Amino acid sequence: MEADLLCEFENLRSNSIAEIQAAKAEGRKVVGKYCIYTPTELVMAAGAIPLPLCSTKQDPISVAEKVLPRNLCPLIKSSYGFAASGACPYFNISDLLIAETTCDGKKKMYELLAELKPLHLLQLPQTQDMNALEYWHSEITKLKDRLEKDFSVTITEQNLREAIHLLNEERRSLKDLQDITKHKPSPISGLDLLTILYNRGFSIDKEATIQRVDRLTLKLKELSNQGVSPFKTNTPRILLTGVPVGIGCHKVVQIIEENGGNVVCFESCGGYKGVCDQVDEEKEPLLAIAEKYLATPCSCMSPNNTRFELVQRLIEEFKVDGVVDLTWQACHTYNIESYSLKKYLQERKTVPFLQIETDYSESDIEQLKVRIEAFLEIISVT
Ligand code: SF4
Ligand code: SF4
Repeated sequence: MEADLLCEFENLRSNSIAEIQAAKAEGRKVVGKYCIYTPTELVMAAGAIPLPLCSTKQDPISVAEKVLPRNLCPLIKSSYGFAASGACPYFNISDLLIAETTCDGKKKMYELLAELKPLHLLQLPQTQDMNALEYWHSEITKLKDRLEKDFSVTITEQNLREAIHLLNEERRSLKDLQDITKHKPSPISGLDLLTILYNRGFSIDKEATIQRVDRLTLKLKELSNQGVSPFKTNTPRILLTGVPVGIGCHKVVQIIEENGGNVVCFESCGGYKGVCDQVDEEKEPLLAIAEKYLATPCSCMSPNNTRFELVQRLIEEFKVDGVVDLTWQACHTYNIESYSLKKYLQERKTVPFLQIETDYSESDIEQLKVRIEAFLEIISVT
């Protein structure tokens, strides 16, 4: 992709700390979050800045392992280590953390994080029925009360409606951007797409970022119409599902693309899963927020059939040739669910499926290359 288009997004992350510091100096509060279940509309409606704190780097893990067990998901260890070491500027600048009882490892880690920073824990139900919705609605109402109390603000219905509208627009723009890879061949690599999706999360000016993303989508549409693409028409098109990925733990994406494939769809958090549904602007705001977030198809839900249905739909929409299901080591929920996802897809005779279990380190790069090369070869001859 043209370097100047990507450059705008590369700088977003590095520039954001100075912008956040300036906003804090003017009295704005900062809220750190670790999951796409966090109802970010409430944070925005409270006038605060939401920041993603999930860490994607290997470096902080050694610090975390002084406290946490070694056989724990790298995302949890990295996020805790980055915070506890004092090296994460976004954690340091946060006034409040919002966390959810998703998987066991994360919720127990949050108990330790709460010793470092004020933390509001949302008790997330693990089913998605009406009883769960009622309970989750009450949890979201408690979060509203906490934000109002801690930040001495009143979250009005009008504030909430404006925040819902803005974040719906953000989701619309991110979905439009990701839909661009439905063009065959895609005008953008999966790694570039991931860089944009990851970096834009650190920008505090949502309106400006929406415009930036829309400009990029338009440009990519033009490139695609001119037949410009880093790939060939027969490049194997991969859907990546499973655990969250970001820049720093992107090795599987990189290996796929260095070995002749193209990741055209990230079903995982940070990709399509978080943006394909909107908050209903016609409904009572807190209920509409509760409905949207509870419907998130994460493996901490049981059952989690909506994830299978989403993957199946995306395989068709993105004309995918193969599915790679990425699992971080010791992530029991995604690891176990991989069996059911594979079975679901095989029963529907869809596309070849590969599960990869790895961590943030580079120790298995050569083995991953061998497995991914073989997978891409199978796809190329089917
Ligand atoms: S995988 Fe589940 S727990 Fe992890 S960030 Fe996504 S929604 Fe949250
Ligand atoms: S990847 Fe799995 S174990 Fe790690 S935080 Fe997400 S759900 Fe939990």
